[in-house]
Amino acid sequence: MSDHDIDPTSPRMAPKPEVTKIDGRELKPSTLMMGYGYDPVLSEGSLKPPIFLTSTFAFPSAADGKRHFEGITGKRPGGADGLVYSRFNAPNQEILEDRLSVWDGAEDALSFSSGMTAICVLMLAYASQNDVIVHSGPLYAASEGFVAKVLAKFGVTYVDFPAGATREEIDAVIEKAQAQADEQGGKVCMVYLESPGNPTNALVDIEAVRASVDAAQLDCPIAIDNTFLGPLWQRPLDQGADIVVYSLTKYVGGHSDLVAGSIAGAKKWMEPVRMLRNTMGGICDPNTAWMLMRSLETVELRMNRAGENAAKVCEFLAQHPKVEGLGYLGMIKDARQQDIYDRHCKGAGSTFSLLLKGGEAECFRFLDALKIAKLAVSLGGTETLASHPASMTHLSVAEGRRAELGISDNLVRISIGIEDPDDLIADFTQALETV
Ligand SMILES: *Cc1c(COP(=O)(O)O)cnc(C)c1O
Repeated sequence: MSDHDIDPTSPRMAPKPEVTKIDGRELKPSTLMMGYGYDPVLSEGSLKPPIFLTSTFAFPSAADGKRHFEGITGKRPGGADGLVYSRFNAPNQEILEDRLSVWDGAEDALSFSSGMTAICVLMLAYASQNDVIVHSGPLYAASEGFVAKVLAKFGVTYVDFPAGATREEIDAVIEKAQAQADEQGGKVCMVYLESPGNPTNALVDIEAVRASVDAAQLDCPIAIDNTFLGPLWQRPLDQGADIVVYSLTKYVGGHSDLVAGSIAGAKKWMEPVRMLRNTMGGICDPNTAWMLMRSLETVELRMNRAGENAAKVCEFLAQHPKVEGLGYLGMIKDARQQDIYDRHCKGAGSTFSLLLKGGEAECFRFLDALKIAKLAVSLGGTETLASHPASMTHLSVAEGRRAELGISDNLVRISIGIEDPDDLIADFTQALETV
């Protein structure tokens, strides 16, 4: 035995029980992000989890190997018992998934190599031939495309409703979806929401959707893409959603240096997705999982700062003579939208649309003049980004549909970062002079 080997009989080897409460006080996610789900004792005392670069895990015995596979394949209930193979799961991803669950108050979470992998595997896990998906609109373009073009190849159809729809309107849509499912010989397999919608920031009334799904006695999950406000400013599971979906690429990763996704919810909703992920792959890699854990330690700090910055910048933009309007959740004009905001949201976020007086030419002059803000798609990073959805992210959307969604030629989308707010205001001031 060499000096640095740990005596397995020493109490140092025993992992400590997880501490989530002190004297009855529930510890906050921001505290748990520094250590939850990981005990240094299991990794030579390393304070931070090492990155486990391994494709496979050694079994203690042949019988253990059998047990593991019975779990993975569903021959034994309870799922995997320990780690088997890195397509199924691995230490960094497991710790990440535990920590992601904490933010949304979920029982379980699954990590993926991108937000779109999470969304596609989720939908594939629930949709069977001839089923119907009910979804809010607009969705992230690739999500909308996956439903309308890819799932359509398997006879899956959809019915959509505009974000902001009332309980009565949602009831009517669900009734229509049930009729459509009956006609096709399938079922309504999922209600899929995205709130706020991109780039207009229209909010979906999750509570109304929950009530409507319950009234219709639909036995399907309500999933919601919470990328724009989560995990800090909206916790959709509290409003009755079953599954929360993230592009971790955005606020959670938060440094514009990785691509990843996740879903979270009750175990019973996660299991079918886990089984399909075991088959297809698409789990987040260990290095990215490690980077996401580092990101989660500062997610609250970053999001708070970005949110405060956005409030200051929007206050400035709102009274600027070259500005026609703002799609910012801190300045909602519509009473119905404000009501949803008050019930669902804890903060206005830092991504909004800026409507300039003019059209594409004015927007392009503004974008090209920006000196701090970078001209790029994506959002939720430490740096401020600006883009022109009509000619970039939403170019593939048909012109009529674009108008319907409020994606006009004079709309610039901005994601505010954590720079000094007065520097950002100075940048927008000089760029607006060129409009
Ligand atoms: C970016 C984004 C996605 C897709 O996520 P990727 O990580 O790029 O695959 C899905 N939904 C929303 C709302 C997004 O902003």
